[in-house]
Amino acid sequence: MALDKFFRRRRPQVNPVAETETPDLWGKCPQCKENVYLRDLAAGAYVCPSCGLHHRLGASRRAEVLCDSPLEQWSGRVHPVDALKFHDTESYPERLKRAQLKTGRPDAILTGRGSIEGVDVVVAIMDFEFSGGSMGSVVGEEIARAAERAAQMGLPLVLVAASGGARMQESALSLMQMAKTTIALEALSARGLPYISVLTDPTTGGVTASFATIADVIVAEPGALIGFAGPRVIQQTIRQSLPEGFQRAEFLLEHGMVDMIVDRRQQRSDLAKLLRLLMHQPVPVAQAQAASSQAASTQVAP
Ligand SMILES: [Zn+2]
Repeated sequence: MALDKFFRRRRPQVNPVAETETPDLWGKCPQCKENVYLRDLAAGAYVCPSCGLHHRLGASRRAEVLCDSPLEQWSGRVHPVDALKFHDTESYPERLKRAQLKTGRPDAILTGRGSIEGVDVVVAIMDFEFSGGSMGSVVGEEIARAAERAAQMGLPLVLVAASGGARMQESALSLMQMAKTTIALEALSARGLPYISVLTDPTTGGVTASFATIADVIVAEPGALIGFAGPRVIQQTIRQSLPEGFQRAEFLLEHGMVDMIVDRRQQRSDLAKLLRLLMHQPVPVAQAQAASSQAASTQVAP
């Protein structure tokens, strides 16, 4: 056998279509390791169709999943500054620049006006892709502005939290945002307007300890890690082993820290129902009929 024929035969047979399509169209779920068709994943609100893992979403994608149409964006005009001249392994402005290039926004927050199944809302969405969704001065300022503007306009606020906590590079300035956001949210409460917080994976640190958990209704996504300090820090401090599932949404629901766990594929519909209920808005006739026929079919099922 000629040498070139030997190598030709041993060369793996490659389907040219599959080779070019695989990197773009298929992805592997990190939890169940199943190959997932990315269009199916997108159509199912980025929840794995095999195991139900709720994939983490950047703020823009989250807004697409949550709202009826693109937001009237409010955030983006306030930019972070390096007030403390912070430098660890690299300078804070260098870190910011990288995060800004990656996400296309000045800081880890997206706010604006939109609608959820026809209900007008103000939304504030934290962007975990920007520096781990850390809460610096800009995040605090944008959330405070969104809350105050929602109160002025008579609209409810829906906040989606995703954060590693306070931003180390802004130190005390970052911690001050906990008080500022909390006070701003009182404007909504004073006007009797609802504030709903959706806790996603992960919501931790100063964000959990302030605006994310003082909502009228606290919703969590299945399996989300929600806590203040990390489990390793707590375990080392109290010197006790922690129960299974500690700091996961399901554990926190059982212990009263969250009000409900809502699958992301159901979120728009459930949030719209909640908002209508809290805003005393009637349910549109078509939706009410669909809901009653669904309820009727559920009742007759064996
Ligand atoms: Zn999966």
